[in-house]
Amino acid sequence: MTRIALLSQRLANQIAAGEVVERPASVVKELLENSLDAGADRIEIDIEQGGGKLIRIRDNGAGIVKEDLGLALSRHATSKIANLDDLENIASLGFRGEALASICSVSRLELISRARSSSDETAWRVEAEGQEMTTAISPAAHPQGTTVEVRDLFFNTPARKKFLRTEKTEFDRLEEVVKRLALSRFDVAFSLRHNQRAIHHLHAAISSQEQQRRVALVCGPAFVENAIQIDIEASGLRLWGWVSLPTFSRSQADLQYFYVNGRIIRDKLVSHAVKQAYQDVLFHGRHPAFVLYLELQPALVDVNVHPTKHEVRFRDGRLVHDFLFRALHKALAGVRPQDRLAHDVQASGQVSAQGRELPGASEYQEVERGASTTGDFSGQGRISFAPGYGASQGYAFTPQSSTLYSGTSTQQLVSEQMATYARLHNENDVPPLGFAIAQLHGVYILSQNVQGLIIVDMHAAHERITYEHMKSAAQNEGIKAQPLLVPLSIAVSQAEADCAEQQAEALLALGVGIERVATESIVVRQVPVILAGADIEQLVRDVLSDVLEHGSSERIRNYQDELLGTMACHGSVRANRQLSIPEMNALLRDMERTERSGQCNHGRPTWVLQSLDQLDKLFLRGQ
Ligand code: ADP
Ligand code: MG
Repeated sequence: MTRIALLSQRLANQIAAGEVVERPASVVKELLENSLDAGADRIEIDIEQGGGKLIRIRDNGAGIVKEDLGLALSRHATSKIANLDDLENIASLGFRGEALASICSVSRLELISRARSSSDETAWRVEAEGQEMTTAISPAAHPQGTTVEVRDLFFNTPARKKFLRTEKTEFDRLEEVVKRLALSRFDVAFSLRHNQRAIHHLHAAISSQEQQRRVALVCGPAFVENAIQIDIEASGLRLWGWVSLPTFSRSQADLQYFYVNGRIIRDKLVSHAVKQAYQDVLFHGRHPAFVLYLELQPALVDVNVHPTKHEVRFRDGRLVHDFLFRALHKALAGVRPQDRLAHDVQASGQVSAQGRELPGASEYQEVERGASTTGDFSGQGRISFAPGYGASQGYAFTPQSSTLYSGTSTQQLVSEQMATYARLHNENDVPPLGFAIAQLHGVYILSQNVQGLIIVDMHAAHERITYEHMKSAAQNEGIKAQPLLVPLSIAVSQAEADCAEQQAEALLALGVGIERVATESIVVRQVPVILAGADIEQLVRDVLSDVLEHGSSERIRNYQDELLGTMACHGSVRANRQLSIPEMNALLRDMERTERSGQCNHGRPTWVLQSLDQLDKLFLRGQ
């Protein structure tokens, strides 16, 4: 029989490393979090060969005093919490005290630090040797702060090393970690180099314009140009950041950053709320893009759910879900043509440092300065829409106008604003989407407005308008319900039956009459008229499981919306119908009045602008 023995320090740490140190990206995450916890505001990251060869992170944080250096590399040693109560109010990113020990056990790690508090002018280096990971401390040269160097990751655990992918894949993941943290701390400067090449160089971003610039550098300029900036507060919760317009969607959920109190998370409840908010406006199977920050009292959220802390638990999940859904839904509904256009006009006064090349015009490459238009002439060109607009009533959007013009003198600013105003208001009072001049191939309406040419997809536009009208009619008249000829009995779990019983009143308000008849059985007696032909049993089951999981269900409403959408689609002007000029103008005026009129029910854009500037460029005028 094998006898019981204590594991060596190194082996114990290697086992622990299995949980947190999966690949170079996880090492970078832990080290960066330590630098941020140490209060650094400048962090340099040097990587060689995807991180497998070298990860070196240097910060200007508080450093570690000589006496504590040995402990920094041992397991269950942390300066961040001292007792269980501290766990309730965690302000630091780390607190488990095992990252350095774990990383150290599977690599060649060296830490050099000079503490801020130390009167001592020298820095100290620490390394851990042998199976027991005995620490050796020696003097070194280093400015205030800490450098951690991790070489040859997994050199002593070949089985783990085999799981590493190509240098490029590992670097991509590592870069993603840097991006996430860079978006969480605008006040910290980050630089990232790979094989001596500069990849990112981000200055500290304080003003809202600088922050937006960082978002553009990290997420790409197109995202920022097609996003609305929001800042909403209610019931002790605050949500701010950037959300993409539905017309700027992605095939993957890869541009989604969500932070809770500065900590990035992936959470089912959050994704669900966001998905719901985009439900009605997003092209099928597409994903929205966002960089969002939720702030709430630390005691209302538990971060100690998962070792990598990617999951959180909200004390009141339902409140958070409803707040997120409402805030985003309203923000997206509020985008009207005039907001987008107004913003185009304003933004053209903006001096932006994000130069961009015009696609499709490479011989005449020119860095676009300031104009926020995408410069995409392919006909797919999206209307550009830099943040700050799309403001809807009742929401506090961060005022952008003060920063939009920085770089321009006050006098210039005033004269530009006056010119804009004059153009918009005195010149024959042209409405935002202008006046129709023609119909193209029975599909598009061409219209002239102050900025240039507006092209409207008339079917898409009409569909959205009809749909919104039908929805508000349904809302105003309430949901008409009708009793089922034969009540439908459904076998459910006890939890579902409990839920049905508790929610009976709320469901009735939506037109669904449910009664519990036994521990595990319910009966549906009435349903909304419009849903009469639907699979009621499936719908009720889905609703109950939504309510159990998320505390609420939008399913009945969504289902109804879907039906209305189909009806709207069939009832809308088809292509190849000749419209008269007054008919076209009526459609344009309707669009200006309608919520979400920027995209059809399937998330396609309903109109685009080709400004005179863009047309001039197309013809190389003034070059
Ligand atoms: P944790 O972050 O969970 O406390 P770590 O193993 O990551 O555990 O780090 C152990 C301790 O070493 C930290 O609590 C901190 O006191 C110190 N430390 C680590 N990295 C740094 C750094 N870059 N600057 C200052 N102190 C650091
Ligand atoms: Mg740590």
